[in-house]
Amino acid sequence: MTTNNDPLATTKAELLELELELTQRLEEMDRSDSRPKMDSAVGRLTFMDEYQQHQMAEHGRRNVESQLGRVHAALARVGDGTYGKCARCGVDIPPERLEFMPEASHCVQCHSRA
Ligand SMILES: [Zn+2]
Repeated sequence: MTTNNDPLATTKAELLELELELTQRLEEMDRSDSRPKMDSAVGRLTFMDEYQQHQMAEHGRRNVESQLGRVHAALARVGDGTYGKCARCGVDIPPERLEFMPEASHCVQCHSRA
């Protein structure tokens, strides 16, 4: 049974899907240990390469974590009925923006000013 009369049902499903996807990505990152191995018999250049890869992986991980945080916040807003409103100025966030980025908490203007 589907409830088409709840406009937020699709949004909520999308957010939950996104949450699952991001959680899985974090788990994958945890499995592939990218930490540089000091004790392995690699040359200095190789070590630097590994170190750089590690830095990039860390950066990617932080991005995923912060997006996951925004998804959680968006789900909370769906729950309390403030979803789709800019958290700063209170205007309705354009549907095109929410479609592109369902976890968005600010309108484009406030986002660029933040
Ligand atoms: Zn705003």
